[in-house]
Amino acid sequence: MKLEEIKGIGENKLKLLNKLNIKTPEQLINYYPYKYNIIKNNQINCLINKIDVVIEGIIITEPKTKKLNEKRNIMFFKIKLDNKIINVIIFNRSFYKNKLNIGKTIIIIGKFYEKSNKIIAKEIRFEKFKLSETIEPIYHTTKGITGNQINKIVCNYLSEKKHIKDYIPEYLVKKYNFISKEESIVNIHNPKNIDTLNKAILRLKYEELFIFLLKLSYLKTKNKIKGIKKQINYEIVRIFINNLPFTLTKDQVKCIIEIYNDFIDEKQMNRLLQGDVGSGKTIVAFTALYMNYISGYQGCLMAPTELLAQQHYNNIKKILEKNINIELLTGKTKLKEKKMIKQKLKDNKIDIIIGTHALISEDVIFNNLGLVITDEQHRFGVKQRSNLKNKGKTPDILYMSATPIPRTYALTLYGDMEISNIKTKPKGRKEVITLLKKTNEIKDVIELMNNELNNNHQIYVVAPLVEDNEYSNLQNIYSLAKKIEKLFKGKYKVGILHGKMKNEEKDNIMKNFEKNILKILVSTTVIEVGIDVENATMIVIFDSYRFGLSELHQLRGRVGRNEKESYCVLISDNETERLKILTNESDGFKISEEDFKLRGSGDIFGIRQSGEINFVLTNIKDEYQLLKKIKIDSDIFMKKYINNYKYKHIKEILINSSNLD
Ligand code: ADP
Ligand code: MG
Repeated sequence: MKLEEIKGIGENKLKLLNKLNIKTPEQLINYYPYKYNIIKNNQINCLINKIDVVIEGIIITEPKTKKLNEKRNIMFFKIKLDNKIINVIIFNRSFYKNKLNIGKTIIIIGKFYEKSNKIIAKEIRFEKFKLSETIEPIYHTTKGITGNQINKIVCNYLSEKKHIKDYIPEYLVKKYNFISKEESIVNIHNPKNIDTLNKAILRLKYEELFIFLLKLSYLKTKNKIKGIKKQINYEIVRIFINNLPFTLTKDQVKCIIEIYNDFIDEKQMNRLLQGDVGSGKTIVAFTALYMNYISGYQGCLMAPTELLAQQHYNNIKKILEKNINIELLTGKTKLKEKKMIKQKLKDNKIDIIIGTHALISEDVIFNNLGLVITDEQHRFGVKQRSNLKNKGKTPDILYMSATPIPRTYALTLYGDMEISNIKTKPKGRKEVITLLKKTNEIKDVIELMNNELNNNHQIYVVAPLVEDNEYSNLQNIYSLAKKIEKLFKGKYKVGILHGKMKNEEKDNIMKNFEKNILKILVSTTVIEVGIDVENATMIVIFDSYRFGLSELHQLRGRVGRNEKESYCVLISDNETERLKILTNESDGFKISEEDFKLRGSGDIFGIRQSGEINFVLTNIKDEYQLLKKIKIDSDIFMKKYINNYKYKHIKEILINSSNLD
């Protein structure tokens, strides 16, 4: 059946539905309400986790208010309904404070959170109003079509009783006592009651994750089919390792061997090299490039920024033999040179190329590409990854990431890959001394800075880039730099670095910092990734509460890269409890777990990561247990049932999904 054949869909509505990305009946019924208004009066059992509720209760504590900033405030109090006490939080309504007296009955509309037993209220009403007992589905809409109309169209379709494909195998439906797919779909659009709605959501969530995990493991097995079987004499590798300027850590060697084993196997490597900042991933990558080179293939290493590409290029030249042809290609490379490099790549006259991601997107043609390495992989999503692999070539692929991620995420983000971990840091690393300071303690900070500068060390100063913040907008980055310069009476040169600068400017600043001409570098988070200046022994981060813990940990990783004592100073008047975690934890993995618990998925990798995997129904932060269960189920299904004729419709969607869309 086509979409336009459904009752209620004319030419106009068809266009509007298309605009909402609804192009087939299947997409239509999977276009779920994003929330429900539950209108039910004063019943404890209508407190449903994470759903808007309306309740009538009695105030039992004096409201407390707190100013968050110029424009925002927060108010807390407790209410009692029946025999249950619930915390109420409401933003920007402190003007109600005087009306909220103990003993008064009020009506609160807002979202209920079971775990913390609180309602984040959207509205407070003082007079009774008539409440009916309905659950109203709310859809995302676009101009010209209402939620009601969408709901009606869905109903029209469902009433024709078309068969709805069910992607949960029968035996699992039984095991979990799921309601049928059809009933779930009907109820997610038109809930009979809360109980059924919850059952419907659970079932559809399960299906969503189940299919996702199946797709991941399918991609993983599929990758095992093709690839290059390389021939590498490990003895040569061993000699190479022995000749490095330092002794590799156990974990570094282990990772190299894992990569080596992938190389000599005929399956295509699809591996993630995971390790905390400063754990020494780069040398592992260089060794991989070297092994790939001696097996007779070209290799490439992609960095997320030009600065990093340049840095990698300089370093690899120092480490590899002079007769290996290594080139650098970035957006900055002159046109003429670019042309030459591309020609040489085509003619197999370049062995290793370092560059930015332009390397794969541009019309670069390799002669016999055998290895692609992507640095700081967390900037790419699963989807982009599967696209890269679908380019028709079968080079081995290695991703590097400095953001250790919690297991839940590893399952979903990296479920299609093998993982190598570097857990130990190179010897002689001192822990970065991390201090938490309030703005009114700035004098202490300046003293510390003075100390380091007197020792001829260098300092990073970071300020977050947010509009409504004193230090934040670009102008303020400049004025902060001026202030700092003044503080030290112009004795030390201060440089500025931010994302909106031209690459050339950035490079210049960075070079002058590396050469110790600039003593202090004031920047937004552009320094976050990979930059390696050994003489920098201190990083000062203003308004650090604006960052996720993992992000701060990354920033902190810019210092303490050798045996010198180094410092990280977090300046913040807010969220000191959260930030305190950093003062006594230096394990990036643990920190990211904390971050995950405290701030949720979107913040784990900073701002860039958010929105990578968008499940319709599932917020995986809350669903670790469920996810774990489904992972086991999906593994068993892949092993035992995937080829069962009964489930050929499930296999079909796996085969048809060469990527994860
Ligand atoms: P990251 O994992 O953050 O990319 P790098 O690869 O940049 O870390 O390594 C950080 C620093 O440690 C570099 O200066 C590198 O030369 C050095 N390094 C790496 N491995 C070792 C080792 N085994 N012993 C001593 N120093 C090392
Ligand atoms: Mg690195």
